[in-house]
Amino acid sequence: MVADKTADSSKSEREKENILTSTRTVVKEALDKLGYPDEVYELLKDSLRMLKVRIPIRMDDGSVKVFTGFRAQHNDAVGPTKGGVRYHPDVTEEEVNALAIWMSLKSGIVDLPYGGGKGGIICDPREMSFRELESLSRGYVRAISQFVGPTKDIPAPDVFTNSQIMAWMMDEYSRIDEFNNPGFITGKPIVLGGSHGRESATAKGVTICIEEAAKKRDFEIEGARIVVQGFGNAGSFLAKFLHEAGAKVVGISDAYGALHDPHGLDVDYLLDRRDSFGTVTTLFKNTISNQELLELDCDILVPAAVQNQITAENAAKIKADIIVEAANGPTSMEATKILTDRGKLLVPDVLASSGGVTVSYFEWVQNKQGYYWPEEEVEEKLYKVLKKSFETIYHTSQTRRVDMRLAAYMVGVRKMAEASRYRGWV
Ligand code: GLU
Repeated sequence: MVADKTADSSKSEREKENILTSTRTVVKEALDKLGYPDEVYELLKDSLRMLKVRIPIRMDDGSVKVFTGFRAQHNDAVGPTKGGVRYHPDVTEEEVNALAIWMSLKSGIVDLPYGGGKGGIICDPREMSFRELESLSRGYVRAISQFVGPTKDIPAPDVFTNSQIMAWMMDEYSRIDEFNNPGFITGKPIVLGGSHGRESATAKGVTICIEEAAKKRDFEIEGARIVVQGFGNAGSFLAKFLHEAGAKVVGISDAYGALHDPHGLDVDYLLDRRDSFGTVTTLFKNTISNQELLELDCDILVPAAVQNQITAENAAKIKADIIVEAANGPTSMEATKILTDRGKLLVPDVLASSGGVTVSYFEWVQNKQGYYWPEEEVEEKLYKVLKKSFETIYHTSQTRRVDMRLAAYMVGVRKMAEASRYRGWV
């Protein structure tokens, strides 16, 4: 058992290094295509700042556990850095670094006045009590408080963090600052200055990308067969929206397995029975594996779980015509090439999952103004932003004859490269 675990964790270390390496490779390719010199790549290949913190927490059994956390600020030439904080046992410094670069790309793609940032704590929130999670969240804010702030670096939710955790973090920061400071963090509960539509924003953004991609391939969402991998925040809202739009959700999964019904799953029932970590398949006997799920016969596949799901090993077996990446980094570089060569339309993570940070920006603007918008206004603005970004990237991919991922990186990297040049950094 112990030996297996070691083998597993070194495998995930390797995968994360690969995520950083592959992100850098595509950033380099994008900068080369745009004609920037090497020094721009030298600046953008890494985060400008990376803070590592140690957080001692008194656990419920009386013992003290010291947790390790990170906060990366990739590039702040355009504006303050912005990005979520994830709680996960597999968090590493390399991963946080790569995810901060992705946040810069997302901000560039949807044209926000931000650079990218990211945070993470190595922990398993599924095994922690509410009180332990609150202590850890407050401890993390105390540890990073000098480094972040509403005009410096603005955190948000990510894997296994939610609006309650944002509320504790905002409260802790406001205590340190000695005044109420809602703009320090986004993804808050509505009563604490959160924005309408923030919780479902990532899934809304993915839905808009799916609709636009379907138009390019000339088919209707109504009646389309969809497979969604992952039933967390993004996956569950997405299944709901697609089901409401008349699509047939034929497969869903969580970390423990997957469900398949070629006639369409009972999405309402599954939504009702999922727990707060997105687990639902444990209630069923006839499950299939996550790998089998990805290879199901369907029109649209949405990996909305974790990284490295579609690789050189299974890319040739993917049957969907359109793959829309709702998770960060679900498809490897080799797999991207295999899928593109097979004529599949792959909508990359940095575009498809940018709805969350877009509505986070709306939340931050509302906090600054102290004036709050109704849900319809948020949705309308999100729709305009995502539709335009999809069109720009699709058009770039067609005119520059590159895949959608490289096109997205080209669009995403341009603004921070320009801003860094104007500032005289490179
Ligand atoms: N964690 C989300 C992401 O990866 C949202 C970030 C934010 O809202 O700042 O895009």
